[in-house]
Amino acid sequence: MDELTEYDVLIIGGAMVGGSLALGLLDSGLRVAIIDATRPEERLASSAGERAIALSQGSVQLLDRLGLWAAIGSRAAAIKRIHISDRGHFGKARLSAEKEGVKALGYVATAHTIEMAIHNRLQKAGVELFCPAELIAIEAGSNGAEITVSREGKKQKFRCQLVVGADGGQSTVRQLNHIEQEIREYHQTVVSVVVRPGINGKETAYERFTSSGPLAFLPIEGGLYSVVWTMDGADVEEIMALPDERFLERLQECFGYKLGKLELAGKRGAFPLCLVRAKEMLAPRALLIGNASHQIHPVGGQGFNLGLRDAAQLAEQLLAASEEGRDLGDEAVLRKYSELREKDHKAVIEATDGLVRLFSSDFGPLALARNVGLVAMDHLPVTKSAISRFAMGLSGRMPRLQTRQGEKV
Ligand SMILES: Cc1cc2nc3c(=O)[nH]c(=O)nc-3n(C[C@H](O)[C@H](O)[C@H](O)COP(=O)(O)OP(=O)(O)OC[C@H]3O[C@@H](n4cnc5c(N)ncnc54)[C@H](O)[C@@H]3O)c2cc1C
Repeated sequence: MDELTEYDVLIIGGAMVGGSLALGLLDSGLRVAIIDATRPEERLASSAGERAIALSQGSVQLLDRLGLWAAIGSRAAAIKRIHISDRGHFGKARLSAEKEGVKALGYVATAHTIEMAIHNRLQKAGVELFCPAELIAIEAGSNGAEITVSREGKKQKFRCQLVVGADGGQSTVRQLNHIEQEIREYHQTVVSVVVRPGINGKETAYERFTSSGPLAFLPIEGGLYSVVWTMDGADVEEIMALPDERFLERLQECFGYKLGKLELAGKRGAFPLCLVRAKEMLAPRALLIGNASHQIHPVGGQGFNLGLRDAAQLAEQLLAASEEGRDLGDEAVLRKYSELREKDHKAVIEATDGLVRLFSSDFGPLALARNVGLVAMDHLPVTKSAISRFAMGLSGRMPRLQTRQGEKV
């Protein structure tokens, strides 16, 4: 066993959310290290790296503060308009950046672009990364936590004041702290793929609600579109096994010809969906953030946006606690973080879950209600503006990192 290494904060999981937290703590004087079970290149080699992440305006501001927007923005596509429709029904709604008085309603970048920008910046800043290294044990005491990781077949121990679990939906930090999960199965799977449209998409994102679930077309770099196609779990095997030509026909049947004839431009990936929420965000000397705390349906494109706000809020909290000379693992510090994040989590989870339920139902009155809702939204500027602000990630309380004065992005 190697000797004990000491840190102030140990982040378990250095993907998009954990990596963002580490960047938020740069120049704080705190000793921070990341422990991750997989190398970013391995994680991003599959279709998981190609998945499009819709970034809200709020996230763009945060990424800018973290020094990442120059790298991500140069490879991101702007969303100038969002077109929402309900297949086989009359309702439609349109959101527009111009009407909201903003440059864009949001941006889309691939997970690969975002994670590599984070990783490169962490490397440049000299943040210590232990990888591949897997967390296997945590012991929390009054003076600190001791954690054990398995690294190249050997066990290594670390000490710290606070362990942050940014280790995804199957979080080991959560499991080792015996925090239970609330799981809501949707019996749905997302099939993701990149397509080339037959006509110029003019920076418009499409969200189409079908009887099997939502179908989103998000503009990405190079005039391409990333498709996020939600379908019943039972249909996935068949769809994934179809030859390319048949797969395209089925996709086109569902989406129509608003973007002309589609061509495949990437690999298909399948992601089973459920709402997974940890029943607690905190444990002795440990906190859960990002997907470790909440893994939501990608319908509204909010998972990373929400996790990034977790990282920004926690960075703000830890910087303040450190300036006051407090113990970073103190329960009062952790509890304050959890109280500040609760409202945002609840709002996003309820909105996303409500959308999935409402739009996956073919029950007559509900189908009518959602169509009337879409039509009303198109005609009521107040509702539409509130929804736009929610989609842009500008509603509710913002972490300070996001609202600090600075140049506009
Ligand atoms: C198809 C799809 C589309 C999506 N679209 C959007 C979108 O448009 N907008 C949006 O905001 N969000 C979107 N999301 C959600 C978004 O991808 C996630 O919210 C985000 O990736 C979560 O990041 P994370 O860092 O919390 O967790 P993860 O990405 O799961 O990372 C967890 C990390 O922890 C590491 N780890 C796990 N266990 C251990 C261990 N024991 N020891 C050490 N390390 C460990 C892993 O190796 C990994 O690096 C989408 C998701 C899907 C599936």
